[in-house]
Amino acid sequence: MMGLFSRWRRARILQRYAVPEALWQEALTALPFLADWPKGELEALRAMSVLFLCDKNIVGARGFAVTPFQRTVVAVQACIPVLKLGLEWYDDFETVVLCPDEFITYAEWEDEDGVIHRDDAPIMGEAMPGGPVVLSWPDALDAGRERDIYSLLPCGGGCPDTNPRPPSAATPFEKGAMAEEGEVRSFPPSPLPQGERGGKYDMPAVNVVIHEFVHKLDMKNGEANGCPPLPPELSAAYWQQTMERAYDDFCRRVDAEEDLDIDPYAAEDPAEFFAVLSETFFVASIRLRETYPDVYECFRLFYRWEPMWSHDSGKSSCFNKKTDSSDEPVSSQTKGNRG
Ligand SMILES: [Zn+2]
Repeated sequence: MMGLFSRWRRARILQRYAVPEALWQEALTALPFLADWPKGELEALRAMSVLFLCDKNIVGARGFAVTPFQRTVVAVQACIPVLKLGLEWYDDFETVVLCPDEFITYAEWEDEDGVIHRDDAPIMGEAMPGGPVVLSWPDALDAGRERDIYSLLPCGGGCPDTNPRPPSAATPFEKGAMAEEGEVRSFPPSPLPQGERGGKYDMPAVNVVIHEFVHKLDMKNGEANGCPPLPPELSAAYWQQTMERAYDDFCRRVDAEEDLDIDPYAAEDPAEFFAVLSETFFVASIRLRETYPDVYECFRLFYRWEPMWSHDSGKSSCFNKKTDSSDEPVSSQTKGNRG
């Protein structure tokens, strides 16, 4: 009955609303990694973005006024990880908070030796267990470019702080989308220690929106640990073994200061490894397939499709494809636009 209601509601929303063509084109231009996505998946992403905007509030922090373009760019990217899984994976929260820049959470966490740490470094985004997702708008827009995280912090400490506006506009792209003030002020501190991103390495294929929403998937079965609820065809043991092997290799490469095509922040812990490699899967799939083909295959099964290859129906598995760069589509050169 519930499923029927959901389908009915979904159909009604999609009958009533659509991402306006000009706004959609503007969003696609801002997210160039989508240029090579199959048309069918892009249309599905466009429709899911409408449902996302109807279901979630996207609020600005500290007087930051959220525009229809910003709402659309965030929604489109947020829907990427659940495009084939379904929006119900995001049922445990209602709000996305958009900050004008990086922000500081001042969250406290205890390490394995019982030492209390306080996060006072600016970050691009954070997913709160059972609560909102907080994002820095410039980083949500960058969707790839390297930035100096030690730059200014207009958002200040203790972000987010909302600035409610009355809901007045008629469409999900323009609506006030205001949350209860307490909803975004009382979120619990994140259990995830935040590391640094930026500076030392060339870090292609970063996408902070995908990253934070992948943490949300990870949190569906408890604390984020790099192992989300898995489909029947993927055993937890196989996932764990595959991810651990790749994580150990990645940490070794980071320690050896090797040139990396994947953000070294992935070495922070298994949850960050899952989130960062998922960014790579969606934004620069070939890079992940070449570096960690077993992880790629796990992700293909978990996310239920392959963004880079779905348009080629003659090639059903990534392992059937050549990895020689001369055989790769030009699109492999167009991602990870960190500048
Ligand atoms: Zn993270």
